[in-house]
Amino acid sequence: MISYSQAHSDLRDIFLGFVEGWDDASKVFLITIYSHWVERSQYPHVLPEKLPPFQLADQIQAQESSSPKHNSNQPLFKFRVLQRYGPKCAVCSVDRKEMLRATHLRPVTNDGSDDPRNGLILCANHHLAFNANLFAFDNSTLNVVFRPQGPNAHDLQITVDSLRSLPELPDQRALAWRYRYWKRVLGL
Ligand SMILES: [Zn+2]
Repeated sequence: MISYSQAHSDLRDIFLGFVEGWDDASKVFLITIYSHWVERSQYPHVLPEKLPPFQLADQIQAQESSSPKHNSNQPLFKFRVLQRYGPKCAVCSVDRKEMLRATHLRPVTNDGSDDPRNGLILCANHHLAFNANLFAFDNSTLNVVFRPQGPNAHDLQITVDSLRSLPELPDQRALAWRYRYWKRVLGL
């Protein structure tokens, strides 16, 4: 990537970028741009197809609770979640990439990891509703569940009533964590 060093400058800054992964269904590339020179021996590898063993909690955070809050790598997380579940909201028919969010089941603020199996694709509306605890997923039935006093599926325009039709499922531990959390928040 070549950019102006400063406004009206004759100089240019040159950055190295690496295509680390791509997803045909979502039509996205993950490109990491480095601010410093990278030697050939340090070139990043293309993201592996196979995921490492699942980690629900962010390891660094879990080991060093006094360390500063880690920064979730949102572009990498979104890329990985899109790759796993495809570019469509898990609970409605929205499939415009511009409207989709990668949502953590166990949130980063609760030490949740950026593992894609700790994520789901939701549209912006359902991302907000999910994080406001207006609905959840029962980890044993995979059904969408609502608060006893509402709003219901119709109010929230939820048209898909379970996660069973997803091409892949989130990790059961991530689903169970979120469902327990939701019930605790609601006092159920
Ligand atoms: Zn939606």
